[in-house]
Amino acid sequence: MGKNEFLTPKAIANRIKAKGLQKLRWYCQMCQKQCRDENGFKCHCMSESHQRQMQIFGENPDRVVDGFSEEFENSFLDLMRRSHRFSCVAATVVYNEYINDRHHVHMNSTKWATLTEFVKYLGRTGQCKVEDTPKGWFITYIDRDSETLFKDRLKAKRLKADLVDEERQERAIQAQIERAQCSLPSTEAGGSDDQNQEEDPKLDHNLNGGKVAFLLQPTLAEAKAVKGGVKLGLEEEIEGSTSKRERRSQGKGY
Ligand SMILES: [Zn+2]
Repeated sequence: MGKNEFLTPKAIANRIKAKGLQKLRWYCQMCQKQCRDENGFKCHCMSESHQRQMQIFGENPDRVVDGFSEEFENSFLDLMRRSHRFSCVAATVVYNEYINDRHHVHMNSTKWATLTEFVKYLGRTGQCKVEDTPKGWFITYIDRDSETLFKDRLKAKRLKADLVDEERQERAIQAQIERAQCSLPSTEAGGSDDQNQEEDPKLDHNLNGGKVAFLLQPTLAEAKAVKGGVKLGLEEEIEGSTSKRERRSQGKGY
Protein backbone atom coordinates (compact mmCIF):
# COMPACT_ATOMS: atom_id res chain seq x y z
CA MET A 1 0.00 0.00 0.00
CA GLY A 2 3.08 2.19 0.37
CA LYS A 3 3.02 3.27 -3.23
CA ASN A 4 -0.56 4.49 -2.98
CA GLU A 5 0.27 6.91 -0.16
CA PHE A 6 1.74 9.10 -2.87
CA LEU A 7 -1.74 9.47 -4.34
CA THR A 8 -3.79 10.04 -1.21
CA PRO A 9 -5.48 13.45 -0.94
CA LYS A 10 -3.35 14.11 2.12
CA ALA A 11 -0.11 13.46 0.28
CA ILE A 12 -1.27 15.57 -2.67
CA ALA A 13 -2.42 18.35 -0.35
CA ASN A 14 0.97 18.27 1.35
CA ARG A 15 2.76 18.65 -1.95
CA ILE A 16 0.50 21.53 -2.87
CA LYS A 17 1.14 23.21 0.46
CA ALA A 18 4.83 22.82 -0.20
CA LYS A 19 4.28 24.67 -3.44
CA GLY A 20 2.51 27.47 -1.65
CA LEU A 21 -0.98 26.57 -2.87
CA GLN A 22 -4.11 26.50 -0.74
CA LYS A 23 -5.55 23.31 0.64
CA LEU A 24 -7.79 21.64 -1.85
CA ARG A 25 -10.29 20.54 0.75
CA TRP A 26 -11.13 24.16 1.71
CA TYR A 27 -12.27 24.96 -1.74
CA CYS A 28 -15.98 25.25 -2.48
CA GLN A 29 -16.57 24.08 -6.00
CA MET A 30 -20.16 25.25 -6.19
CA CYS A 31 -19.15 28.82 -5.37
CA GLN A 32 -15.65 28.45 -6.82
CA LYS A 33 -14.40 29.87 -3.53
CA GLN A 34 -11.07 29.06 -1.95
CA CYS A 35 -10.96 29.31 1.84
CA ARG A 36 -7.83 29.67 3.90
CA ASP A 37 -8.53 27.01 6.50
CA GLU A 38 -11.17 24.87 8.15
CA ASN A 39 -12.62 27.84 10.01
CA GLY A 40 -12.86 29.95 6.91
CA PHE A 41 -14.50 27.08 5.06
CA LYS A 42 -17.07 26.62 7.87
CA CYS A 43 -17.89 30.33 7.69
CA HIS A 44 -18.32 30.13 3.95
CA CYS A 45 -20.66 27.17 4.29
CA MET A 46 -22.92 29.24 6.60
CA SER A 47 -23.11 32.09 4.10
CA GLU A 48 -26.32 32.82 2.25
CA SER A 49 -24.71 32.66 -1.17
CA HIS A 50 -23.35 29.21 -0.45
CA GLN A 51 -26.74 28.02 0.82
CA ARG A 52 -28.29 29.17 -2.43
CA GLN A 53 -25.69 27.25 -4.39
CA MET A 54 -26.25 24.19 -2.25
CA GLN A 55 -29.97 24.40 -2.96
CA ILE A 56 -29.18 24.24 -6.67
CA PHE A 57 -26.91 21.30 -6.02
CA GLY A 58 -29.58 19.58 -3.90
CA GLU A 59 -32.14 19.82 -6.70
CA ASN A 60 -30.04 17.71 -9.01
CA PRO A 61 -26.85 16.49 -7.34
CA ASP A 62 -26.09 13.86 -10.00
CA ARG A 63 -26.21 16.40 -12.77
CA VAL A 64 -23.93 18.79 -10.90
CA VAL A 65 -21.40 16.06 -10.11
CA ASP A 66 -21.57 14.77 -13.69
CA GLY A 67 -20.97 18.28 -14.97
CA PHE A 68 -17.92 18.74 -12.75
CA SER A 69 -16.64 15.28 -13.61
CA GLU A 70 -16.89 16.02 -17.31
CA GLU A 71 -15.10 19.34 -16.90
CA PHE A 72 -12.40 17.73 -14.78
CA GLU A 73 -11.88 14.95 -17.31
CA ASN A 74 -11.75 17.34 -20.28
CA SER A 75 -9.29 19.69 -18.63
CA PHE A 76 -7.10 16.83 -17.48
CA LEU A 77 -7.03 15.30 -20.97
CA ASP A 78 -6.41 18.71 -22.53
CA LEU A 79 -3.34 18.99 -20.37
CA MET A 80 -2.23 15.49 -21.38
CA ARG A 81 -2.68 16.41 -25.02
CA ARG A 82 -0.83 19.70 -24.67
CA SER A 83 2.04 18.74 -22.38
CA HIS A 84 2.43 14.98 -22.46
CA ARG A 85 1.12 13.93 -25.82
CA PHE A 86 3.78 11.36 -26.63
CA SER A 87 5.17 10.43 -23.24
CA CYS A 88 4.45 8.04 -20.44
CA VAL A 89 4.13 10.23 -17.38
CA ALA A 90 3.30 9.77 -13.70
CA ALA A 91 -0.37 10.55 -13.06
CA THR A 92 0.58 12.69 -10.06
CA VAL A 93 2.84 14.84 -12.23
CA VAL A 94 -0.04 15.62 -14.54
CA TYR A 95 -2.36 16.13 -11.61
CA ASN A 96 -0.01 18.58 -9.93
CA GLU A 97 0.23 20.53 -13.16
CA TYR A 98 -3.53 20.45 -13.46
CA ILE A 99 -4.21 21.83 -10.00
CA ASN A 100 -1.76 24.66 -10.58
CA ASP A 101 -4.67 26.46 -12.17
CA ARG A 102 -6.37 28.12 -9.20
CA HIS A 103 -9.83 27.61 -10.64
CA HIS A 104 -9.50 24.05 -11.78
CA VAL A 105 -12.43 21.77 -11.07
CA HIS A 106 -11.50 20.08 -7.84
CA MET A 107 -11.46 16.34 -7.77
CA ASN A 108 -13.57 16.16 -4.62
CA SER A 109 -16.44 17.64 -6.64
CA THR A 110 -16.26 14.83 -9.18
CA LYS A 111 -17.45 11.25 -9.08
CA TRP A 112 -13.86 10.10 -8.56
CA ALA A 113 -12.80 9.94 -4.93
CA THR A 114 -9.11 9.48 -5.70
CA LEU A 115 -6.70 10.09 -8.53
CA THR A 116 -6.15 6.32 -8.77
CA GLU A 117 -9.85 5.89 -9.39
CA PHE A 118 -9.76 8.53 -12.10
CA VAL A 119 -6.63 7.00 -13.68
CA LYS A 120 -8.32 3.59 -13.77
CA TYR A 121 -11.33 5.25 -15.40
CA LEU A 122 -9.07 6.76 -18.09
CA GLY A 123 -7.66 3.29 -18.77
CA ARG A 124 -11.07 1.64 -18.79
CA THR A 125 -12.48 4.16 -21.28
CA GLY A 126 -9.44 3.78 -23.53
CA GLN A 127 -8.40 7.41 -23.29
CA CYS A 128 -5.02 6.65 -21.77
CA LYS A 129 -2.78 3.65 -21.48
CA VAL A 130 -2.43 3.24 -17.73
CA GLU A 131 0.16 1.25 -15.84
CA ASP A 132 0.50 0.49 -12.15
CA THR A 133 4.22 0.62 -11.38
CA PRO A 134 6.22 0.56 -8.10
CA LYS A 135 6.54 4.33 -8.60
CA GLY A 136 2.78 4.78 -8.86
CA TRP A 137 0.38 5.06 -11.78
CA PHE A 138 1.81 6.06 -15.13
CA ILE A 139 -0.33 7.21 -17.99
CA THR A 140 0.19 7.63 -21.72
CA TYR A 141 -2.21 9.70 -23.74
CA ILE A 142 -3.89 7.82 -26.55
CA ASP A 143 -3.96 10.24 -29.44
CA ARG A 144 -7.40 9.54 -30.80
CA ASP A 145 -7.31 12.47 -33.20
CA SER A 146 -4.28 11.32 -35.13
CA GLU A 147 -5.37 7.71 -34.68
CA THR A 148 -8.67 8.52 -36.33
CA LEU A 149 -6.85 10.50 -38.99
CA PHE A 150 -4.54 7.57 -39.61
CA LYS A 151 -7.45 5.13 -39.86
CA ASP A 152 -9.31 7.46 -42.21
CA ARG A 153 -6.27 7.80 -44.43
CA LEU A 154 -5.83 4.03 -44.44
CA LYS A 155 -9.47 3.58 -45.34
CA ALA A 156 -9.22 6.08 -48.20
CA LYS A 157 -6.09 4.35 -49.44
CA ARG A 158 -7.84 0.98 -49.39
CA LEU A 159 -10.85 2.42 -51.19
CA LYS A 160 -8.59 3.88 -53.87
CA ALA A 161 -6.81 0.53 -54.24
CA ASP A 162 -10.18 -1.15 -54.65
CA LEU A 163 -11.13 1.31 -57.39
CA VAL A 164 -7.84 0.75 -59.19
CA ASP A 165 -8.40 -2.99 -58.94
CA GLU A 166 -11.89 -2.60 -60.33
CA GLU A 167 -10.60 -0.48 -63.21
CA ARG A 168 -7.85 -2.97 -63.93
CA GLN A 169 -10.39 -5.79 -63.92
CA GLU A 170 -12.67 -3.87 -66.25
CA ARG A 171 -9.80 -3.19 -68.62
CA ALA A 172 -8.82 -6.88 -68.54
CA ILE A 173 -12.37 -7.89 -69.37
CA GLN A 174 -12.53 -5.31 -72.16
CA ALA A 175 -9.24 -6.62 -73.58
CA GLN A 176 -10.59 -10.16 -73.41
CA ILE A 177 -13.72 -9.14 -75.28
CA GLU A 178 -11.63 -7.41 -77.95
CA ARG A 179 -9.37 -10.43 -78.31
CA ALA A 180 -12.38 -12.71 -78.58
CA GLN A 181 -13.87 -10.48 -81.30
CA CYS A 182 -10.62 -10.52 -83.27
CA SER A 183 -10.31 -14.29 -83.18
CA LEU A 184 -13.86 -14.90 -84.41
CA PRO A 185 -13.86 -15.39 -88.23
CA SER A 186 -17.58 -14.75 -88.67
CA THR A 187 -17.40 -11.31 -87.10
CA GLU A 188 -14.43 -10.55 -89.28
CA ALA A 189 -16.54 -11.44 -92.33
CA GLY A 190 -19.29 -9.26 -90.87
CA GLY A 191 -16.82 -6.39 -90.82
CA SER A 192 -16.10 -6.65 -94.51
CA ASP A 193 -19.80 -7.20 -95.12
CA ASP A 194 -20.40 -3.73 -93.73
CA GLN A 195 -18.03 -2.46 -96.36
CA ASN A 196 -20.00 -4.30 -99.00
CA GLN A 197 -23.21 -2.72 -97.84
CA GLU A 198 -21.55 0.66 -98.01
CA GLU A 199 -20.44 -0.07 -101.54
CA ASP A 200 -23.85 -1.31 -102.64
CA PRO A 201 -25.51 2.13 -103.03
CA LYS A 202 -22.57 3.21 -105.15
CA LEU A 203 -22.97 0.09 -107.20
CA ASP A 204 -26.70 0.72 -107.55
CA HIS A 205 -25.98 4.27 -108.53
CA ASN A 206 -23.62 3.04 -111.16
CA LEU A 207 -26.19 0.56 -112.37
CA ASN A 208 -28.86 3.21 -112.67
CA GLY A 209 -26.62 5.98 -113.83
CA GLY A 210 -24.57 4.38 -116.56
CA LYS A 211 -24.22 1.05 -118.27
CA VAL A 212 -20.48 1.51 -118.84
CA ALA A 213 -19.66 1.71 -115.15
CA PHE A 214 -21.84 -1.29 -114.43
CA LEU A 215 -20.30 -3.38 -117.17
CA LEU A 216 -16.83 -2.84 -115.80
CA GLN A 217 -17.65 -4.27 -112.36
CA PRO A 218 -19.82 -7.35 -112.72
CA THR A 219 -17.44 -10.08 -111.52
CA LEU A 220 -16.25 -8.07 -108.51
CA ALA A 221 -19.75 -7.19 -107.35
CA GLU A 222 -20.92 -10.72 -107.89
CA ALA A 223 -18.02 -12.20 -105.94
CA LYS A 224 -18.60 -9.86 -103.04
CA ALA A 225 -22.32 -10.44 -102.96
CA VAL A 226 -21.94 -14.21 -103.04
CA LYS A 227 -19.24 -14.20 -100.44
CA GLY A 228 -21.39 -12.14 -98.08
CA GLY A 229 -24.48 -14.16 -98.75
CA VAL A 230 -22.91 -17.57 -98.20
CA LYS A 231 -20.79 -16.76 -95.23
CA LEU A 232 -23.41 -14.92 -93.26
CA GLY A 233 -26.41 -16.76 -94.58
CA LEU A 234 -28.27 -13.49 -94.83
CA GLU A 235 -31.31 -13.77 -97.07
CA GLU A 236 -31.32 -10.10 -97.69
CA GLU A 237 -27.85 -10.30 -99.12
CA ILE A 238 -28.81 -13.18 -101.37
CA GLU A 239 -31.90 -11.37 -102.55
CA GLY A 240 -29.81 -8.31 -103.20
CA SER A 241 -27.30 -10.28 -105.25
CA THR A 242 -29.99 -12.04 -107.30
CA SER A 243 -31.70 -8.78 -108.09
CA LYS A 244 -28.37 -7.41 -109.18
CA ARG A 245 -27.80 -10.48 -111.28
CA GLU A 246 -31.24 -10.06 -112.86
CA ARG A 247 -30.53 -6.47 -113.63
CA ARG A 248 -27.18 -7.49 -114.97
CA SER A 249 -28.65 -10.11 -117.25
CA GLN A 250 -31.13 -7.50 -118.45
CA GLY A 251 -28.21 -5.27 -119.16
CA LYS A 252 -26.46 -8.03 -121.01
CA GLY A 253 -29.55 -8.49 -123.12
CA TYR A 254 -29.18 -5.04 -124.56
ZN1 LIG B 1 -19.75 27.60 -1.40
